[in-house]
Parts: sequence; structure tokens; C-alpha cells
Amino acid sequence: MATGWAGDGAVQDQIDATVKDAIERARSQLPRGASLLACEACEATIPEARRQAVPGVRLCVACQEAHDREQAVFSGYNRRAARTASCAEGAASAAGPPHAAIA
Ligand SMILES: [Zn+2]
Repeated sequence: MATGWAGDGAVQDQIDATVKDAIERARSQLPRGASLLACEACEATIPEARRQAVPGVRLCVACQEAHDREQAVFSGYNRRAARTASCAEGAASAAGPPHAAIA
């Protein structure tokens, strides 16, 4: 039976992609190796206190804050994607005709 523009498989694919993306993003934020002496992005000296506090630190405070802002924007994008997926799921289980889900 038709379920509108997105079949159950497509909804699950979207959810899988969102979860996989989140895992990969979280994994990419894990510290790798030793703390750097200088910022990876701008080469500013990273203070010893920061290197001790953040094992595997790679960015200075300024670059880290800029990086975090970018991550926040990116996360917002993915929250919208997650909502779209659940909307599609709701439309798929609605009793109305398939074209009702498009409008
Ligand atoms: Zn920097």
C-alpha cells in the first residue's frame, strides 16, 4: 500500500543517516593524540593551563569558540532534518490519501 511521497524505507534511511552523521560528528570532536603547543588554525601559543585542562587540545580559545559556533549552526541544521523525518513518518501513517501529505 502506498504511503505518500516517502515510504517507510526512506524515512528509516533518513533517520539512519542523521544518527550516523551525529556519531561521526561526535567522534570527530574527540581529542586525538597529545595537546598541541600552538593552535592548529592560527598558530597562537596554547597556554599550558589549557593544554592540561583539555587533553588533546588542538585549537586556541578564540579558534575553539569560533569552531563551537560553527558546530552549533550545523547541529541546528540536523535538528531540522530530524523533525522533517518525524513529519514524514506521521504522514506515512496518516489515514488520508497520499496527496494530502504533500500539501
Ligand atoms: Zn587559534
